[in-house]
Amino acid sequence: MNPRHDDYPHVGGMRYGTGVPLIPTAAISTNGADLLSKTLKESPNLTFYFKQSCETLPDAKSYNVVGEIKGSEKPDEIIVVGGHIDSWDLAEGAQDDGAGCMQSIEVLRLFKALGVKPKRTIRAVMFMNEENGLRGGVQYADLAKKNNEKHMAAVESDAGGFTPRGFGIVGTPEQRAKVMPWKPLLAPYGLLEIGAGGGGADIGPLAQSGTVLFGFKPDSQRYFDYHHTAVDNFEVVSQRELELGAASMAALIYLLDQYGL
Ligand SMILES: [Zn+2]
Repeated sequence: MNPRHDDYPHVGGMRYGTGVPLIPTAAISTNGADLLSKTLKESPNLTFYFKQSCETLPDAKSYNVVGEIKGSEKPDEIIVVGGHIDSWDLAEGAQDDGAGCMQSIEVLRLFKALGVKPKRTIRAVMFMNEENGLRGGVQYADLAKKNNEKHMAAVESDAGGFTPRGFGIVGTPEQRAKVMPWKPLLAPYGLLEIGAGGGGADIGPLAQSGTVLFGFKPDSQRYFDYHHTAVDNFEVVSQRELELGAASMAALIYLLDQYGL
C-alpha cells in the first residue's frame, strides 16, 4: 500500500514534508531504542532483523468526546481541559493518555462535588487521533473558529498520571505574568514549576486563535517506562498520583475561571 503523504502526514512517529514519498518506518519504545542502540554499538557485526506485521488501513470515522459545564456569567468564554482518547494498540494506553482523559473528566466532577458554579464554560475534551495525525485537535480548533467560539484557555494532560510538578504556559509574556501571582496558591499542591513551556499537542491548534495553553507537568521520571509500550496498562497508574494531578488541574482552572487572563 502506498498512502499519499497528505493523507498520512504523520505515520510511525515520522513527519513528512509535502511531495516526499513515504518509506517504510517503525517507531519503537524509548527503552527498546536505547537497548538496540547499545547492543549494536557493542557488537558492530551483529545482524539485526526486524519484522513488522502492522499496516495502515483506510480511514474510519471517529469522534472527539466532549462534556461541559455551562458558565453562569460568561457562558461564551470557554476553558478547555483535555487529553487524547486514542492510544497505541499494543496496550491499553493507561498513562498515554487514559490518565489525561480521566483527569479532565475529574475536573468537571470536582467542580460539581464542591458546588462550584464556574463563571465561564468549562469543557472537558477527549481528543481523537493524537497519535497519528492530530486530526481531533485540528478539527476541534477548526470547528471552534467556524462557530466563533472564544476559547480563553486550554489545559492538557498528556504526560502521564504522575505526581504533579507544575504547568508549562504558552502565551505572551503579559499573559504569563498574570498567572505568576497564583504561584503561592498552587505551591501547596507541589506545583512549583510554573512558567514558559509546552502546552499539549491536541490543544496546540487553538493557539492560532489566541487561546493561552497550559501543559500539565507531572513528574517525568517513569513516563517513558510506559509510554508507547506493551505495559502501559491500568495497573501502572497510581490512583493517588492521578487524583493529585486532577486536583492540580482543577485548582488552575478554578483560578483561570475566577480571574481570567
Ligand atoms: Zn499522548
